[in-house]
Amino acid sequence: MLLVPLMGELLAACSRPLRLLALATILAGTAFACAPPVAIAQAEADDEDDEDDDRPRRAERDEDEPTDEDEPSGNRVGSALVTPLGQASAGKTLTLDVPKNALGFHLVAVSAAGSELGIQRLKSPSGVVVFDEFKPKNGSFTIGESFEGTASVQVPANDLPQTMPLEKGTWSITLGGSGSGTVEARIQTSDGGAFKGGVLDLHVWIPAGLQMSVPSPLHTVDATRAASDPDISQRVNTFFGLLQASFGIGRGKVSFHAAPAGLRMLSTDALTSQAARVPSRMEDAQALHLVLSNDLLDGELLGLSPGIPGAPTHMKTSMSAVMAAHYEDGQPTDVTTDALTWLHEMGHFVGLQHTTESDGTAFDALGDTPKCPNRKQNTVCPDQGNLMFTGEIPSPPIVSIGQRTVVRSSPIYRATGGTGALARPAAMPITIQPPRYTRSGRALRPLEQTLLGALCGSARFDLAKLGARDAAIADLRAIADDADVVGILRTKAMRTLERMGAR
Ligand SMILES: [Zn+2]
Repeated sequence: MLLVPLMGELLAACSRPLRLLALATILAGTAFACAPPVAIAQAEADDEDDEDDDRPRRAERDEDEPTDEDEPSGNRVGSALVTPLGQASAGKTLTLDVPKNALGFHLVAVSAAGSELGIQRLKSPSGVVVFDEFKPKNGSFTIGESFEGTASVQVPANDLPQTMPLEKGTWSITLGGSGSGTVEARIQTSDGGAFKGGVLDLHVWIPAGLQMSVPSPLHTVDATRAASDPDISQRVNTFFGLLQASFGIGRGKVSFHAAPAGLRMLSTDALTSQAARVPSRMEDAQALHLVLSNDLLDGELLGLSPGIPGAPTHMKTSMSAVMAAHYEDGQPTDVTTDALTWLHEMGHFVGLQHTTESDGTAFDALGDTPKCPNRKQNTVCPDQGNLMFTGEIPSPPIVSIGQRTVVRSSPIYRATGGTGALARPAAMPITIQPPRYTRSGRALRPLEQTLLGALCGSARFDLAKLGARDAAIADLRAIADDADVVGILRTKAMRTLERMGAR
């Protein structure tokens, strides 16, 4: 297994197995006792919210600054080259010229009214099909179909010779589904087509009345005060520390925006759809939009990405923002749990899939992430340390070289050496505490880990994998009544019992 060197060193330094949980979640429990708080070099650790934050970078940004000579002319969003491919119908094949300075590209098809236009097939310049029937080759997931009028695909999403490194030249894109729509590519660029760093801008949407705690007592946060709120700041700092350590992408500008009070409890699909569209009045830009809430689908989820990928840099689609819930019921979700959720959902948003789904029958499309076939509740999985696992994962999480390449290929961040010509941000150390899932600090039991693995909106949760029904019901009831366990886990146990007709 290939690990990020820093992560490998951290893991090697810990003699006990690190454990974490899944999906949008990561767990650690007592296993973290071996790991002191993790100091991670963080870019731009000083304050976010401040409009002056990106001083040298903004000064150096020049929309007209040339990069590689072969770059086609066109509009840009920061370091991403915007290439409109026009209006087209299902069945049509389009072409995209990918320049030598490309790291990767992102395609978005927005359907006309009454249409469900999807991205069905991609062929590399050398004629190799790397994506077919709406799926990346070697992948299990269908991702290129229209969702509420938007379809999106990130290349690379797998690690074929044509995608990693990215083949340059003319790619063919065949549309599927039904009807017609508008297709556009956004190509992330960097001098020479090699990753040289970059920064991520973060827009945090705060619904009126949002409740926060940890490390502070319970209080209400509004957008105007979020920048100075210690609970928000610590989560932002931890998110960027994990981002830098995992992907080598630093901290950019952080902004806070007011969201409607109705988005504080994202208890229905209609509300999550509304949240995914929340940046719609903003101009397209390279940034992650994150909607914070105090509920996601009735206590079932910690985090949700509207697509794998979503539509990063597009502000006016049905897939423009990710969501994360901070729970206050019982034991609140802590700083690291929430920040890991943000990073996991960002992973989905730029094209990372779960390494193994909780049912053990579906996997990501990358060859360098371990998999866990035929997974059952008590299976010890080789990928359980990974950021994109749906079960146990350690903190800080492991990411593979392939996963890192997918993230760095996304247009979501402002790439150093791209058309944005960013300076490399300074690194500053921050301390990341381990996440906490029990008051006592004990390690989570297998069923607790399984439940935590189902707290991401992209996860499939198979009740059959819980084992014998009577024993599972007894265990779930014990979790639901256990005041030692974080509140979201107790709620998940209750919801699972309800679905089993046993509550
Ligand atoms: Zn997930």
